[in-house]
Amino acid sequence: MTASLPTHVEAASPHVMNTYGRLPIALSHGQGCRVWDVNGKSYLDALGGIAVNTLGHNHPELVPALQDQLTKLIHCSNYYHVPLQETLAAKLVELSGLENVFFCSTGLEANEAALKLARKFGHDKGIDFPETVVFETAFHGRSIATLSATGNPKVQAHFGPLVEGFIRVPINNIDALKRATAGNPNVVAVFVEAIQGEGGVHPMNDGYLRELREVCDANDWLLMIDEVQCGMGRTGKWFAHQWSGIKPDVMPLAKGLGSGVPIGAVVTGPKAAHIFQPGNHGTTFGGNPLAMRAGVETIRIMEKDALLLNAATVGEHLRSAFVRELQGLPGIKDIRGRGLMLGIELSVPCAELVTRSADNGLLISVTADRVIRLVPSLIMTTVEADEVVAILAPLIKQLLQEKAPA
Ligand SMILES: *Cc1c(COP(=O)(O)O)cnc(C)c1O
Repeated sequence: MTASLPTHVEAASPHVMNTYGRLPIALSHGQGCRVWDVNGKSYLDALGGIAVNTLGHNHPELVPALQDQLTKLIHCSNYYHVPLQETLAAKLVELSGLENVFFCSTGLEANEAALKLARKFGHDKGIDFPETVVFETAFHGRSIATLSATGNPKVQAHFGPLVEGFIRVPINNIDALKRATAGNPNVVAVFVEAIQGEGGVHPMNDGYLRELREVCDANDWLLMIDEVQCGMGRTGKWFAHQWSGIKPDVMPLAKGLGSGVPIGAVVTGPKAAHIFQPGNHGTTFGGNPLAMRAGVETIRIMEKDALLLNAATVGEHLRSAFVRELQGLPGIKDIRGRGLMLGIELSVPCAELVTRSADNGLLISVTADRVIRLVPSLIMTTVEADEVVAILAPLIKQLLQEKAPA
């Protein structure tokens, strides 16, 4: 391959800002669900770039399509119409049953737009101090507004003063939400992940999402469902909330939508589709032809190859294999999730599993200190899922013997 690429890993980079706890691994290329580091060691990828690489690596249809787009137009700004925006927006509207779409480039940017929509929705109704209901253990991003909406003190530490206008409640408890908002005329929206990702893979119950829909309808609030991580087919439906049968008013998307090309989107229903007028919101990169092509091709290939069905069946295969291996062992608190979004919660911190797995040729993540999170590409096969279990289950058992002996 390219001889000028670095083939070693610096302990710490003198030039890249030190914002991540990185593994001492530098990846060079990938194929499907497998990646290779610069030393030639191969890994099975059960992280998928944090739920981003929907089609795995070096997909035989995505790559030529992107190459074609590169030669045509990468970027041109939103001073002009971008026909691929219309194509992708129409597809997202069809899949969601909603009305229109705003394009941006990342998850936090999609959520920032959602929060602005909620505020203008309030101001348009004469509410001068609009407030949005958010959740414990939520994660919505790292901008000042989205970290204020996030329910993790570690994300917020050092960055106060936080943005005002949030009411925080526990998940899956409609009475707590009703108590926290009772008699408050300033509430404009409820903002919730259908399955919390970074916070530890916590699914909202289907019944709870239906209760949220009812409460929002009864009070004329926007229901805004952050599908940045759990959306785009990962759970076996296009969007995780669709298991509950409801529709949101606002749905931020990002991670998996472009199979690795940065892209974000806010899909809105009738109640939110016309809040923004020209001049209210915008972004330079959002909706550029390369990102739009990535989104269009990702969805086309997902439909053609029935990847929702694959996510559901391989995800269930993976989940039940871990249940067989681990359920009932001391130290195993819960095995949860849907489709290819799986969380295994231990009773002890388990960050060292990330390194041990990598040493054994498997990429995973640990979130919320004790939750092993698996969010692989939606092309993963049952054979590869079995390999994930064969590598990871013994490492979990070994860790529990060290830290939580029976
Ligand atoms: C990752 C994530 C975000 C933030 O996305 P970025 O692209 O990192 O800004 C927001 N919400 C959820 C649910 C996420 O998982």
